[in-house]
Parts: sequence; C-alpha cells; structure tokens
Amino acid sequence: MSHVFPRHCHASLPTAVAGDGCYLIDKDGKRYFDGSGGAAVSCLGHSNQNVINAIKEQAEKLAFAHTSFFTSEPAEELADLLIANAPGDLDRVYFVSGGSESVESAIKLARQYFVEKGEPQRRHLIARRQSYHGNTLGALSAGGNVLRREKFAPILVEMSHIAPCYEYAERDSAEDLEAYGQRVANELEAEILRLGSGTVMAFIAEPVVGATLGAVPSVPGYFKRVREICDEHGVLLILDEVMCGMGRTGYLFAHEAEGIKADIVCIAKGLGAGYQPIGAMLCTDHIYNTVKEGSGFFQHGHTYIGHPVATAAGLAVVKEMLNNDLVNQVKQRGAFLEQALQAKFADHPHIGDLRGRGLFRSLEIVENRDSKKPFDPSLALAGKLKKAALEEGLVCYPGSGTRDGKHGDHILLAPPFIASEAQLTELVEMLSRAIDKTLSKTIR
Ligand code: PMP
Repeated sequence: MSHVFPRHCHASLPTAVAGDGCYLIDKDGKRYFDGSGGAAVSCLGHSNQNVINAIKEQAEKLAFAHTSFFTSEPAEELADLLIANAPGDLDRVYFVSGGSESVESAIKLARQYFVEKGEPQRRHLIARRQSYHGNTLGALSAGGNVLRREKFAPILVEMSHIAPCYEYAERDSAEDLEAYGQRVANELEAEILRLGSGTVMAFIAEPVVGATLGAVPSVPGYFKRVREICDEHGVLLILDEVMCGMGRTGYLFAHEAEGIKADIVCIAKGLGAGYQPIGAMLCTDHIYNTVKEGSGFFQHGHTYIGHPVATAAGLAVVKEMLNNDLVNQVKQRGAFLEQALQAKFADHPHIGDLRGRGLFRSLEIVENRDSKKPFDPSLALAGKLKKAALEEGLVCYPGSGTRDGKHGDHILLAPPFIASEAQLTELVEMLSRAIDKTLSKTIR
C-alpha cells in the first residue's frame, strides 16, 4: 500500500519508474507519450543527458549554499542568460522553487515597491476570473478559478477579478475581435477607478491562460490596451508565464507575442523542465533599485531560493533551448500539431474550439457546438477523458468546466519541444480514440 498522500485521495496511480525522450514508463513496462509535459513542464522530454550531467556535476561540486551568505556560479550564469534573452527592461532575477512562490514573490515585490516609493496607499491587486496563479494563499487569492478557491474563500486575501479575454465563450457575435479586446481590457480601467486610482498596485494576468481555461491567447490589441491603462494609472503589470513561458508558445517569453513590456514576469515549469523544481521572478531595474534604495533588501525569501543544483539544471535547460533553436522549432511543430488537430477534430460534433499557440494547445469539449453549451459538469468528463487517455498510453491534462455554464471541459496539450511529427500524429490518434470512447460511454 502506498503511503504517499496523492493529489486526489481516491486515485490509484501507476508507478512511474523511468523516462525515455517523450515517454514515461511505469513499473509494468507500459509506455505513455507525455502529451502535456505533466502540466506543461517537461519541455525537453525525460532523458536529456546534458541537463542530467549538469545536475550531477553541480551536486558533486556544491549542492547548497544559503543565499543570505553566498551567491553561486550557476545562479549568476542563469540570471545573466535569462536577462540577455528577456524582452523589455527586465534586468533582475529572483530565483524560487516553483510557480506559486514566484507569484507570491511578485505580489509582495509590487507591494514593497510602492511602500518604498512613498505610496503605501497602493494595496489592491486586480486579477482575472478563470485564471490560475498557484495554490499558496496569496497566489490562490489572485487566481479566479472558482472550484480551486471555493473551500478556502473565507481565508483568502481580498482581490478584484475582472473578465478574462476569452473570445470563444464571451465575445458577442456582433462584436469584432478588436472591439471585444478593447471592451474587456477597459474593464481594468473601470475597476481601477472603482477602487480609486492611487490605491491599485498591480494587475496580474497570464498572457496565454493555462490551467483554468486551456491555452487561451488574448485577442490582438488586448494587452496593448492593458499596458496603456497600467501606465495611465501608475499600476504595475505582472505577467504570469509560469505555464505559457519558456518557449512553450514559440517565444522564450510568451508576452513577446504581444509587443508589450512587463514590469514583473513569473516563470517556472519549463525553466527546470521537470529536472529540478525551480521558478523565477524577473523585474525591472527600476523596481529593484527602488527597493534597494529604500529598505536595502526585498523582505521575502525561502530557504531554497537560488539553489545551486536547481539553477544548474535551469541553466542547462535554457542553453539546450538556445543552442538547438528549440523555440523556433516550437513554432513549426506547433503549426503541425494545430493542423493535425484541425484535420481530426474540426468537424467533431463535440469539439467546440481548438486553440492555443506553439506547442500549447487545447480542445474545448461541448454538448452543443452551435450554442457552445458545455456538458453538465457533474459528468466529470475531463477526468474520465484523462483516464481513458492514460489507458491509450497518452498523458494529457484535463480541465473541468465551470459551474456558471460558460466554460466546458477542456484537454490541454503541451508536448515536449522535441516531439517528432510522427509522435504528434500519434498523439492526435490516441487522443481521438480516448475522446470517442469517453463520449460513447458518458452520453447515450
Ligand atoms: N501560475 C500559473 C499560470 C500556473 O499554471 C501554475 C501551475 N499550474 C502556477 C502559477 C503555480 O505553479 P506551481 O504549481 O509550480 O506552484
């Protein structure tokens, strides 16, 4: 009997014992194609020798040195490499151990920045509905995923939530894409004015929404308008690229596609590619200097920040991406996957939307394509689909519909950047079989 407290108490899970390229292998020797990189993590597959060697070498040299006393060579080198390849004015890197820690750090940095700047009245954070920013209490407070929040609602920090940019479900048919984008971006301004312009510290958003909606990019012009509004009201723009960053969408930083500058960016998942737990928060020199010239230090920290083995892994991962031009390949392989998904599902009676960017894609499953009506959430379709896909030998990440009836179940795909066209074709075949089996059992 397993004594591990699993994510879902009722789940009995296969035991993973090995990784081989894009595949995971369980104790019985069954191979699973990792079609979602876990949850958009394993971008280099599971057996990248350069990353493994970097981890071994660093562990043999130096496993740990506390950041109150020391910096380390891999942390410095990784920070330099990220900054050299980051867009805009991102000039400082703060390492953490994962996505939630990165978002917590961003929220606290935004607050401390305004305190040091002499604007302590700025305390509000605005986020979006149907977003996910992590499971620790601050990050969960920012997130707008109703199901993940509801049991904890009484102990969450109060934050505002405006509309996401989710045109498939929320755009009026009479409205063109641009008008829709401006309308939902303008909700940010309305909320800033409602709270009081000088009281808002930051707006946080995922450039491509991941876990809650499933690979939803914004419409053209949306983020430009968001940036303008932030500038007009002195509000910081925090972009959460924990899931969509690090090459996943065909850009090293997902917001490069929007042509805007961020004040703070959160990354994680793809940075360690699953080889080590690592995340990072990047910010501008202006924010860093304001804090430095104020208290002298960022009043935050965790024992394992800047961990030498984790940063050595991150460094090897980013070098692997850059040296092999993987980010551009994500664009090409993403286009191939998009076409394969279109060919298979464009006429499927229950696939309402196929969307995404690069190798970050999803399928929204609906009862009725014309009305976009989702299936009843009590059918727990996404969970059943995940199980059927595992039986087929495919790992794909399920997302449940929301109870407001606006958003259906979805399946998120985030295969490794090294997946071949043949493997992507096989992914689509396995997924199609899993969808058809699940639907034929669930709906009669
Ligand atoms: N932000 C986003 C956008 C995420 O997708 C996630 C994880 N799915 C997190 C934050 C939290 O990251 P972690 O699970 O590493 O704490």
